[in-house]
Order: sequence, then C-alpha cells, then structure tokens
Amino acid sequence: MTARRAPTHRKPVTLYLSAPEAARLIGAKGLPACLQGIADCIAADFLRWGDFDKSARVASYSPGGAIELMPIADDATYTFKYVNGHPGNTRLGLSTVMAFGVLADVATGTPRFLSELTLTTALRTAAMSALAARALARPDSRVMALIGNGAQSEFQALAFQHLVGIRELRLFDTDARATAKLTANLEGSGLAIVACISAAEAARGADIITTITADKRRATVLGADMVAPGTHINAVGGDCPGKTELEAAVLTLGPVFVEYTPQTRVEGEIQQMPADFPVTELWEVLAGRAAGRRTRDEITLFDSVGFALEDFSALRFMYGAARQLGMGTHIELVPDLDDPRDLFALLRPTLQRAPATACDDAAQAQPA
Ligand code: NAD
Repeated sequence: MTARRAPTHRKPVTLYLSAPEAARLIGAKGLPACLQGIADCIAADFLRWGDFDKSARVASYSPGGAIELMPIADDATYTFKYVNGHPGNTRLGLSTVMAFGVLADVATGTPRFLSELTLTTALRTAAMSALAARALARPDSRVMALIGNGAQSEFQALAFQHLVGIRELRLFDTDARATAKLTANLEGSGLAIVACISAAEAARGADIITTITADKRRATVLGADMVAPGTHINAVGGDCPGKTELEAAVLTLGPVFVEYTPQTRVEGEIQQMPADFPVTELWEVLAGRAAGRRTRDEITLFDSVGFALEDFSALRFMYGAARQLGMGTHIELVPDLDDPRDLFALLRPTLQRAPATACDDAAQAQPA
C-alpha cells in the first residue's frame, strides 16, 4: 500500500559537486574571484566567532599520515570535512591531501550539499593565508618566498598576488621538478619568478615567507637566522603532531597568531613550545579586539593548521556559486519516502521473492 505524501513533504535533495565540476565552477567564476569570495566568507564568519559550536578536529594518526574529521555548526548550518595528510602519497601517484565534505540544515539534519574539497581546500587555505597576511604583513609587501612547491603552492601564489599585492616569488623545493611545475603553471600570471637553490636563498629579501612543505617529521625548513626584521611568516605545512617546519627559535622572534588555540597547540608549530606559550587568535585581530602588527620591524607569524570554520565558509561559498551557476548534480543521497516511517518501502520493489532465512542460506551454502 502506498501512503499519500503529507502536504508538508519536503524532498531531501542533495546537490553533489564533483572535483571536475568544481574545477569548471572555478573556471567560470575566475580563480581570483573565488579566492576573494572565499576570503570574504571566512572574514565574515570569523567576525561572528561566538556563533559557532567549535571543536578541535578528530584525528586518526598512522605511521604514514593522518585522517581527520572537521565538524562545526552555527544555528542554521552544520558542515564537516573529511581530509587526509599523507606526505608519502605522491610517490604512489596519490595526492598528499584529499578531501570531501557536507553542508547540512541544522533544523532537520538534511544534507544539502556534498562536495569535493580537495581543490576547495587549496583555495580556502590560500584565502585564509592571504587574509592573515592582510592583517599581519607590512602593507607594502611585494616579495614572497614560497618554500614547498607542491599541490597547494599555485593557490598560495595567486592568492598572495591578487589579495595581498605580491609581485615577485622566490621559490624553493627539495625536488626541483616541483619548482619547475609551479613555474610553468604560473607562466603568464604576471608574477616575477626566481628559482632558488635553498630555503635560505629564497627567504633573502622576502617581505613574506610561506612554508608549505610536506614531511611527516620535525623538519627545520626555516631557521631564525633566515628571517629579516619586518617579515611576515605564513607557516602552513606543519599541521599535525610530530610534523613541523620551523626551528623553535623562529617562534620567539615576534607575536604568533593562530586559528583555534586548542587545535593549534596540538598540531601547529607551537607544539614545540610550552603549553602556556602566548598566542593570539586571528579572529580577535580581524574584530579589532587584539593588535596585529605593531611596528614595521616586527616579525609576525601565522601558525596555520586549518580550522573547520574555514571549510564551513568555503562550503557555503561553493554551494552558493553552484546554485547560482546551475552546476552540480542533484542526487538522492538519502531516500525520498512517501511515509518517512516506512523505510522498508524502498526495498519492497527490489525483493523478487520472500527474503531467504538465515537457515535457507546456510543450507544452500552446503556442498552437494
Ligand atoms: P605536496 O606533497 O603536493 O607538496 C609538498 C612539497 O614539499 C613537495 O614538492 C616536496 O618536495 C616539498 N618538500 C618537502 N620537504 C621539503 C623541504 N624540507 N624543503 C622544501 N620543500 C620540501 O603537498 P601539498 O598538498 O602542497 O601540502 C603541503 C603541506 O601543507 C602538507 O603538509 C599539508 O598537510 C599542508 N596543508 C596545510 C593546510 C592548512 O590549512 N594549514 C591545508 C592544506 C595543506
């Protein structure tokens, strides 16, 4: 018997955005516009920090990497991201970082948007870095050292060009093929590119130093002797326990800014420091409640690990853009039922015969 749909029936449709569709969407809107749009969403969401139910991400660590779940919600919207970080993956032909996520209605729990987040993570990380640099770097910063030239690096380069005003990049990677790939991808961007033979050479003369390497250990990519007065450091690659990029002395050169302190204490560069090491959360600077850069000569440091709120902002940007452009595919991720209490109705047409009992199955499994 088919139940008549209640007049209040709402179809639980989910919009699905695959990685190729996300690429088409970014192409249609333009990468600089997407970076700016996501940065604007992050800034707006950071300014209402108190509205969010926040927690450090739930991580599962293994010898080769980490798999993390990043949930967050306000009164209306819940999001989560699944993301991994496996520095050895590129040797297997897989990305170091892969991600997907969901945006759902808090009122009913209906999943509204299921999206790739590998590309989107690269955009949101770059947008976040640029937003932090706009608050913390000298406003006349034009030269950036980019240490680590892998999957994230083009996005960092272009976000700093379009959102911060960087004109010249000084590149270094332990693998020269990564630097060659980045240089080729940035051809025609208008950025002046200098390939360097060491991190120290890349850092020389830079107004901003971005470290975005992948190595599952306590690496020293950047030493205190490589950092000139007035530099802003955007430290992105150290983002899980036992995985850092900066010599501990770099952390004592000037004020350190973080996303969400409980998470960064475990995952960030500051895991090298005592538990009461002073930090300022970036939202406080954006809200005008704490000072950012105080003098031209100060060395500022953004200890980035990636926080769920940035993915919340990025998901709502991509959801809005996909709907505006009519992109993505509507999928029935959860069943659309005439009678929501009759979940079994979904199976009824598929059952050709009365379901076999466990005993029948066992009998059939006996050898003849
Ligand atoms: P990737 O593997 O594509 O690239 C990493 C690059 O770093 C490689 O080219 C590698 O040769 C280079 N490298 C490794 N050790 C180096 C060293 N000592 N000096 C210079 N270069 C070195 O990885 P990716 O996707 O670009 O990610 C880079 C890092 O950023 C990862 O550790 C990832 O976990 C992290 N990440 C952080 C955030 C965040 O929000 N903070 C977001 C995304 C990724």
